[in-house]
Amino acid sequence: MIDFAVIASGSKANCTYIRTPEVTLLIDCGLSAREACKRLAILGLDPGEIDAIIVTHEHSDHIRGISVMSRKFQIPVYCTPLTSRFLSDDINIVTFHVGDTLTFGAGTEICTTSVRHDAVDPLALSISFDSYKFAILTDTGLPSEENINLLKNASTIVIEANYDEECLDLCEYPWKIKERIVSDYGHMSNTLAAQTLAKVWHKDLKNVVIGHVSEKSNLEERIFEALSTFVPDLPRECITLGAADRSTELLSCAYPARHRDTNAERVCEVSQ
Ligand SMILES: [Zn+2]
Ligand SMILES: [Zn+2]
Repeated sequence: MIDFAVIASGSKANCTYIRTPEVTLLIDCGLSAREACKRLAILGLDPGEIDAIIVTHEHSDHIRGISVMSRKFQIPVYCTPLTSRFLSDDINIVTFHVGDTLTFGAGTEICTTSVRHDAVDPLALSISFDSYKFAILTDTGLPSEENINLLKNASTIVIEANYDEECLDLCEYPWKIKERIVSDYGHMSNTLAAQTLAKVWHKDLKNVVIGHVSEKSNLEERIFEALSTFVPDLPRECITLGAADRSTELLSCAYPARHRDTNAERVCEVSQ
């Protein structure tokens, strides 16, 4: 079994909680440690149980809270040597190279693949345990064949749908930023995300979380329009929208998003 919650996803902050029976992980922590702990506590999750933080790349919306989380809860931080240069040197860093497979316990396997994005050594990853596979692909201008392979056979996919072409065109961003976003080393549009999902959709894909959605250059209805055009077989109840300002529920790779885990609704004391 794999449980997960997208604690934050968007241009402001990204953080995903994921656990198998063998290991509990955070992927990125772009929230302040205080806010990350608050959101974990609302889900009834204890940051003291996190075994490792894995860093996808050095942009501040992915690393802001990492040093404090690492120090406060003695959590080792796994990243590539290039990415490690952007983290403070007084935390426990474990380096690996993109393409490496990391193993935790006897049955948890993490595969990594590099992505096209304007960072020093950005990556996407999948976490497999038993027959479950969770894959996350965000901060990617143009998905490669390897990125698509990473998503294949996944029971859960977190994928970025950052912008709608028309909304981006009309929004207030300076043209230089717009140019960066649409480049092969920027972010994925709703159309590209939906086309990518269409390549990997299968009937046992239980959860799709749409992440890294821009607040300025996207609209919820445009995301669903693109999904229903390119992935008509993906049931609406399997789709969750991630957000920077709130966490998803605690979800299971085994059930569609709408299946509610009663534990997820338990509100616990907020740790300071
Ligand atoms: Zn980002
Ligand atoms: Zn980024």
